[in-house]
Amino acid sequence: MHPLLQQDLEDLPSILDHTNQLAQVFLAGLDGRPVCPPIAEQQLKAGDEQLSAEGCGALAALDSFWQRYAPGISGSAGPRYFGFVTGGSTPASLAADWLVSTIDQNSLLSNDTIAAAIELATIEQLKALLHLPASFTGSFVSGATMANFVGMAIGRQWLGQQRGIDVAQLGLSALGHVQVLSANAHSSSVKALSMLGIGRDALKSIARLVDSEVIDTEALERHLAATSDLPTIVLASAGTVNTASYDDLPALLALRERYPFWLHVDAAFGGIAACSPSYSHLLEGWQFADSITVDAHKWLNVPYDSAIQFTRHMSTQMQVFQNNSAYLEAPSLRPDDYLHLTPENSRRFRALPLWMALKAYGRSGMQEIVERNVMLARRFGDSLAASNGFRLLAPVNLNVVCFALEDISGDTEATRNHFIRLLDLHGVVRCTPTHFNGQPAIRAALVNWMTEDRDIALALASMQTCRTLLEE
Ligand SMILES: *Cc1c(COP(=O)(O)O)cnc(C)c1O
Repeated sequence: MHPLLQQDLEDLPSILDHTNQLAQVFLAGLDGRPVCPPIAEQQLKAGDEQLSAEGCGALAALDSFWQRYAPGISGSAGPRYFGFVTGGSTPASLAADWLVSTIDQNSLLSNDTIAAAIELATIEQLKALLHLPASFTGSFVSGATMANFVGMAIGRQWLGQQRGIDVAQLGLSALGHVQVLSANAHSSSVKALSMLGIGRDALKSIARLVDSEVIDTEALERHLAATSDLPTIVLASAGTVNTASYDDLPALLALRERYPFWLHVDAAFGGIAACSPSYSHLLEGWQFADSITVDAHKWLNVPYDSAIQFTRHMSTQMQVFQNNSAYLEAPSLRPDDYLHLTPENSRRFRALPLWMALKAYGRSGMQEIVERNVMLARRFGDSLAASNGFRLLAPVNLNVVCFALEDISGDTEATRNHFIRLLDLHGVVRCTPTHFNGQPAIRAALVNWMTEDRDIALALASMQTCRTLLEE
């Protein structure tokens, strides 16, 4: 054994203790850590890019990393990172994630680990949390992007089946052009269309209802009637990133009766609202969708990277992803093994953090996070609407606040970008830019388990300070 490996093997307890100390220092300082570290801190320091010839052992490597680069780590796991849709890690999910690397299981159903059985149990518990019926099966993937990819890959196969064509075997050219209809496709779905060979241009944007992000189902129906011979995927939003708007799923289901299409629901963060009796109506009808995307690393607050794809068409899914080889079992023996259901072959025990969180906090814990985030988002929205210099662009439907700067002259986009830079420099709260109804906007998405009243007050004060700086 290499002498440094030998030494680290002997030092393992102190290496783990030291890592634990670094983690504790980080977590104790998370609240005060800048949400956006200075750009200079986000770059490697000169000379650090080279491969080390001799190595230095784990303790020295840990210290080297920490001393040089801790200032470049964002407080994105903390309570005031409202950018993108960024969850943190609850204590139980963090602890589980440490164990995942420690026990290092490949969670195949390979008769040598409990990991796969726990994955399946976690999916069942998540279905119970979100009121998804037994007709759905699910698998863990790395994020909503991959869940959208898998959902639409199954859709592609199903569209072939309807026409007697095995797309997995023959390729997409045997099926021909597929159209994908949506009013609000997330960019990750557009990327998935490229990866699927369906093509980005296959996406047709359907009109939205006035002043909203919700799909206009009458416009959709007109389009479906005019193109009824084309294989069609309808991509519904169950939580848009700008305003957390939900497409009218019952209306889409009624259309599917007349124009058989594949209904994929991107519920990356918005699906988690189903755990609250106050918001579960937003997902009404999703139990009849063909495939569904739900992220775990957003509103379920498990560490990156974790999401779940659900479908009611597992055998079709297996046609796409089956992985036969002499040394792997035939998929018919293990139909629910992710190996035959998702793009990956080997992967980590991704389910354990969610399993641990559900065990530790239960339905009521998850519901409390959702309801507190929504309550605080509404408060944040009300306060912004009442402050000089800001205006809401949409009612706060759920946990996302979409707003703009008011009373500014000149280039509104440049001013908006300048404001966001000031906010990032101030480091207290992170928001991200967007466009809403054709105008430059700013959005704040609340999904972190730690966010409380005082964070809203701190965030507002920072926004007001930066709004004043903008005048100078
Ligand atoms: C975040 C998000 C995605 C992409 O999710 P990743 O987990 O980053 O791959 C897709 N759709 C929606 C609606 C999202 O909010």
